[in-house]
Amino acid sequence: TSFAHFGFDEQLLHQIRKSEYTQPTPIQCQGVPISLSGRDMIGIAKTGSGKTAAFIWPMLVHIMDQKELEPGEGPIAVIVCPTRELCQQIHSECKRFGKVYGLSSVAVYGGGSMWEQAKALQEGAEIVVCTPGRLIDHVKKKATSLQRVTYLVFDEADRMFDMGFEYQVRSIASHVRPDRQTLLFSATFRKKIEKLARDILVDPIRVVQ
Ligand code: AMP
Repeated sequence: TSFAHFGFDEQLLHQIRKSEYTQPTPIQCQGVPISLSGRDMIGIAKTGSGKTAAFIWPMLVHIMDQKELEPGEGPIAVIVCPTRELCQQIHSECKRFGKVYGLSSVAVYGGGSMWEQAKALQEGAEIVVCTPGRLIDHVKKKATSLQRVTYLVFDEADRMFDMGFEYQVRSIASHVRPDRQTLLFSATFRKKIEKLARDILVDPIRVVQ
């Protein structure tokens, strides 16, 4: 598979080539077509596999379609991950590829300024990258709303569980509309993750790196 097989437009392909990626990684070859089809997905993949791009590229296509169908406020895509560092990393990839379509991303994580993050959320962004507890805090304070979210990603789910975020992860899933697309990434597929997948995904396709 080459990047051109994914059916992306020239603008996005150009940006991918500019990143000096020569070919898609295995998780991208398998995961991108599944995410583009709109199906829920479980990706068993580690850092370094290229999993971030595997959910970001289809996300951009999803947002561009959804934006036309449903103009309004609040993010269309939310990416939930365990740590501030991962949040910043994913956010920077969202900006790099999102700018192709003029889409913006906001990162909200524990330890950062609530006020500055709330201000950024209120300025509006199609993409929010967050740690679980901090997103819930902002929603409670009405700095943002999840009503327009139709693309929901949980990255490094096993690490979020290890850090004690299971309740928050489930709470976010229950506050996003059921007609969403959900993607769950985890380095391991333990019993607890399997149970989470059964509870928050609909008929998912499983991809192993
Ligand atoms: P990730 O597993 O998403 O954390 O990605 C690990 C690193 O691989 C990141 O620095 C990406 O920029 C890079 N990367 C992602 N996709 C590709 C690709 N197709 N070819 C080469 N590098 C890539």
